[in-house]
Amino acid sequence: MTLPGLAAFTRPMSASLERFAQAKLADLDAAALRRRLAVTVRGPGAEAEREGRALVSFSCNDYLGLARDPRVVAAAREAAARYGAGAGGSRLVTGNHPLLPALEARLARHKGKEAALVFGSGYLANLGITPALVGPRDLVLVDALAHSCLWAGARMSAAAVLRFPHNDVAALEALLEQNRTGRERAMILTERVFSMDGDRGSVPEILALAERYDAWTLVDDAHGLGVVEPGERAPLEMGTLSKSLGSYGGYLCASRAVIDLLTSRARSFVYTTGLPPASAAAALEALTILEAEPERAARPLRLAQRFTARLGLPEAESAVVPILVGTAEDALALSAALEARGFLVVAIRPPTVPAGTARLRVAFSAAHGEAEVDALAEAIAALR
Ligand SMILES: *Cc1c(COP(=O)(O)O)cnc(C)c1O
Repeated sequence: MTLPGLAAFTRPMSASLERFAQAKLADLDAAALRRRLAVTVRGPGAEAEREGRALVSFSCNDYLGLARDPRVVAAAREAAARYGAGAGGSRLVTGNHPLLPALEARLARHKGKEAALVFGSGYLANLGITPALVGPRDLVLVDALAHSCLWAGARMSAAAVLRFPHNDVAALEALLEQNRTGRERAMILTERVFSMDGDRGSVPEILALAERYDAWTLVDDAHGLGVVEPGERAPLEMGTLSKSLGSYGGYLCASRAVIDLLTSRARSFVYTTGLPPASAAAALEALTILEAEPERAARPLRLAQRFTARLGLPEAESAVVPILVGTAEDALALSAALEARGFLVVAIRPPTVPAGTARLRVAFSAAHGEAEVDALAEAIAALR
């Protein structure tokens, strides 16, 4: 038997692929839109260490400070010791360890729904939900500022996808009026709290409209759960275990029949490995804490409102406050100036946000102290 020569392992890179990647990177650099990874170690409190520097982070979605809570960490550790590090298979094969149905029952109860389904992440949940419910003969209406994964799910469904101006219920109604007839099923996709703007979706108005046009509303509650009062529930309530619950994973809460249908038909549920037991155990413990400690849950919004009052900004509606800057370059410069003063506030650039609206996205957590919030407000006031 002859072994392949060394050359087989060091085959040259594809020249056209290299040219493509280099040219694309040059474009991104020129537009200040290239993204780079920075190694970050979080905690204790709201601290984050980056490149050897301790910063106070205002860029974490761990709104309730539960990712490092000793009770949550202990639950994860015990689950890993008992059930192992990974699920070992799809949930429909052998990956459905007992913590997952337990977590689903608790999520459903928390949301006042009949049932829930846990996915590998919030992104995977949104990739699976819409295509399992609508198809080529149907209509999907999506808020212009909806998260990338809501759009991805809508497009994967192969339905006609229309964008409605952000939170514009009148425009949504006009689109339904013009496009609903002749379409079998229709969905409306929105968010309870918009991830990059921190404002709240007009959920009650949309639900009323949806009823009139027989459309099914999917509300993404990624930034609402545990932080803002829930308000009216949609028939489809999805979210993530990765933000206020401090863990990892995603979920949908809905009726029993819808959950049973998705269990069979959501491709991002069926064809992927189940959530690791430790992630489910951590989320379950976090949900218990969230329900038991309302003062913790109230804190991020209160701190956000303290911050907006100090800076004379419109009152915060959630734990997320945008500081609009404009160009990507200016947003990066403001972020760097804050980092030099000990604050981690990451710049958000297109295509995450529309062109010309690059910003700092300030996220508040129960782990922040009032003094930290005031210090950030002062630093921003001085730099703007
Ligand atoms: C973060 C986020 C998601 C994705 O959740 P992951 O669990 O992080 O994949 C979905 N929708 C919105 C609005 C989000 O902000």
